[in-house]
Amino acid sequence: MTPQPKPADEVKIAALFDQLRQPARIQIMLIIREQPACVCHLVAALGLRQAAISQHLMALREAGWVTTRRESRNIYYSLSDKRLVNLIEQGALIADISFSEMEKISRRPLENCPCPQCHPELPPEYSCKSVPTGYQKKS
Ligand SMILES: [Zn+2]
Repeated sequence: MTPQPKPADEVKIAALFDQLRQPARIQIMLIIREQPACVCHLVAALGLRQAAISQHLMALREAGWVTTRRESRNIYYSLSDKRLVNLIEQGALIADISFSEMEKISRRPLENCPCPQCHPELPPEYSCKSVPTGYQKKS
């Protein structure tokens, strides 16, 4: 008789999928998969409140999937395990969803985002607060 896997193994895998239960977490992982992002960028990209984003980031950090790095006044989040992106991609395939459409959420820069990555030319006092009204990005 071949030994059956311990139920504990299945519990761990179920917990992994449980982390992915929230659509916002999938979106966050896609955004930070190649380039780190600060909280204000995630707020601008997802249109969620900062408190909600912080909660998702905390859960992802506790799972060990997200790491942080401080750069001047901002904390940047990045995806530590890129295999998670493959998992999301496989999920899209099974659900018959275009992954390349989903990926577009990670595009930068965002016009409405005040982070230094999207608006590097903004004076630091505006950084991650708000894009000044009437502000036009020079190209
Ligand atoms: Zn940004």
